[in-house]
Amino acid sequence: MIQIDEKKIFETLKSRQNRDTGRIRATLAKAAEAHGLEAEDIACLVDISAPDLLEELFVTARQVKEHIYGKRLVIFAPLYISNMCANECVYCAFRARNKEVKRRALTQNEIASETRALIDQGHKRVLLVAGESYPKEGFDYILKSIDTVYSVKHDKGEIRRLNVNIAPLSVDEFRRLKEHNIGTYQIFQETYHHETYKKVHLAGKKADYDWRISSVDRAMEAGIDDVGIGVLFGLFDWRFEILAMLQHIRHLEQRFGVGPHTLSVPRLEPAIGSDIASHPPHPISDIDFRKVVAILRLAVPYTGIIMSTRESANIRRETFALGVSQISAGSRTNPGGYGSDERFEEAQFCLGDHRSLDEVIKDIAQLGYIPSFCTACYRLGRTGKDFMDMAKPGDIRAHCDPNALGTFLEYLLDYASPDTREIGEQAIKNIVETKNAAERDRAEKILAKIKSGERDVFV
Ligand code: SAM
Ligand code: SF4
Repeated sequence: MIQIDEKKIFETLKSRQNRDTGRIRATLAKAAEAHGLEAEDIACLVDISAPDLLEELFVTARQVKEHIYGKRLVIFAPLYISNMCANECVYCAFRARNKEVKRRALTQNEIASETRALIDQGHKRVLLVAGESYPKEGFDYILKSIDTVYSVKHDKGEIRRLNVNIAPLSVDEFRRLKEHNIGTYQIFQETYHHETYKKVHLAGKKADYDWRISSVDRAMEAGIDDVGIGVLFGLFDWRFEILAMLQHIRHLEQRFGVGPHTLSVPRLEPAIGSDIASHPPHPISDIDFRKVVAILRLAVPYTGIIMSTRESANIRRETFALGVSQISAGSRTNPGGYGSDERFEEAQFCLGDHRSLDEVIKDIAQLGYIPSFCTACYRLGRTGKDFMDMAKPGDIRAHCDPNALGTFLEYLLDYASPDTREIGEQAIKNIVETKNAAERDRAEKILAKIKSGERDVFV
């Protein structure tokens, strides 16, 4: 079983006292080669504070991000199906003893209706989220909900990839989850620090650190090879957490030949009925948060980094450039939130970015990014190690770029406001002009098909 070696992390962090400017610059030069970083390298970067070195860190992260991901930003929305929970995570509004939250598990009809609302916004990729206590059907409730989401065909759209963020399962349950065609299985350790973990998870199955950390292994044993891990920043020292996360990644790489598909970096946000959520024991400043994204991008260049709407529009914009590759948009964290208003008394935490999907798309297109709703890799079986084997030599770009442009155009034609459509079409033109002849040809073929009315076209 995976064991996080805390002693080693603290020793590595102590060694950072020996770092000097020359060592930092040498580490950044190594990072620029996009082959990743080891724990000692990360320890050398965590305390950078001189403005010139900080800028060099951010510029290096930006270059690595652009080299691997180009201008693409993958878009998704969470779908909260239930806020019922048997655990007592002190930072979360859904915790069992919190009487201030109204409980609700959506029926299959309600899930279908939420799915239609997401399709109407233009979404194609959804993350299904639930607390750890299911209605009377038990785990079958999750499986039925997945089938419901995939079954909805509405106007020109459908959800093409459903990822899930739910409590740890047994290997058998993970096998069943895989049979229902999920994309990524996501699970955050919250904190890798045992003592802190104990203090903030007071009751329920989640109080068992080992059951949680070993869940990614069980998912992979069951054949789910796209997994996402994460840390809830604010619970413990962020420097410790990213080194522990690196140990987790290396463990998965050694055992399964591939690490996680994505990393999530949620920061604690205020939540109804939680003191700690508003007063994090280890608050992480905006500048350190940007450092986290930049260092992770350099440490594991080919692993996606997800930025949710917990963060404000400004922080999100800054981190896109530093390494983020996937973002949520137009999100609600209360079950039923897409069909009705955002109801704080049913929500998991406060959002930092309340803009609609259309507003986010317009903003990022104006910043020069290409929003992507692409789901091709997962549907063509390019997952896990197969995906990484294509991503590392750069082969995946030949697929990602045209697929991103195609799905972006689909969005613009089917769902965008006139303003966003105009800005988006211009952005597509600008990007296509920067391509070489072969790339342009591939992109133009897909764009022409979409313009002529074809949908769900990908290479
Ligand atoms: N209940 C499952 C679990 O805990 O793994 C899955 C879904 S849980 C609703 C999704 C994530 O929300 C948690 O893993 C945690 O990191 C995050 N979360 C909980 N409370 C939060 C808060 N106050 N601010 C930001 N994120 C929070
Ligand atoms: Fe339940 Fe997940 Fe919230 Fe913990 S974080 S109380 S397990 S919903």
